[in-house]
Amino acid sequence: MKASVKHLLGHGLFASHLDAVLLRNAAVIVTCHRVCESDRSDSLSIDTATFERHCRFYQRHFHVVPLPELVHRITQGESVDRHLAITFDDGYRDNFENARPVLEKLSLPATFFIVTEWMGSDHVPWWDESRGVRHPWMNWDEVRALHQAGFEIGAHTRRHVDLGKVPLAVARDEVVGARLELERRLRARVESFAYPYGGRKHVTEATRDLIKSAGFRCCCSSFGGINRAGTDPFCLKRVPVSPWHASPYLFGFEIATGRSVLAPQHQCSEISEATGS
Ligand SMILES: [Zn+2]
Repeated sequence: MKASVKHLLGHGLFASHLDAVLLRNAAVIVTCHRVCESDRSDSLSIDTATFERHCRFYQRHFHVVPLPELVHRITQGESVDRHLAITFDDGYRDNFENARPVLEKLSLPATFFIVTEWMGSDHVPWWDESRGVRHPWMNWDEVRALHQAGFEIGAHTRRHVDLGKVPLAVARDEVVGARLELERRLRARVESFAYPYGGRKHVTEATRDLIKSAGFRCCCSSFGGINRAGTDPFCLKRVPVSPWHASPYLFGFEIATGRSVLAPQHQCSEISEATGS
């Protein structure tokens, strides 16, 4: 189905409040990577104007809450009707420079999942290197400033390893080490975790147990889908936002009609293999 058709259907769906029926007991967690100007072939970046359109759409049609509040509701079996949490993966500097001002202008909460070894470094991940681009990381002052501004900081391992592949001892170092480093830098507890790559094959029972025993309260994948009251907080689903979603109504249509998992653009394994998300 064409993007323009999905946009129109999404507009009609939300204008008629059909979303209230389709998204009953549905909690949505969105994942962004970069908020900056880029070309359409860059599936990890959306421009600032598009990001703001999405945020205004979330604000109008959802209850936007901090991820820990959403996890609390899910765990306690409380209503999650059209609740939505905004998250960012990896720790790109544009999160601080471009996304933060929009979030603050609209008073929206968000969680930033950080790859600890990359903050303040000039490391170029393979998915950017393969495209011949370099996007800077936040430094620790910027990560701390986000935390002090009230945003949640979560862990995304030390070096963005594939937890589905590395030996368990390495996985433990990546998971526990990231948490300890964040807590040392922020002088605060860190309780949310997001899997690097986030596809089904990157999430194993052994690493999930490891993340639980490391003291985290939730972990997030990113292969699409919605969450409901009673969902295991260590099996949270997230929907990646990409340039394909130039219209937030297209995005909303895919979520409300259960297409966020089925659409190839949202298949995390494909996204991760193509882009390294
Ligand atoms: Zn990542």
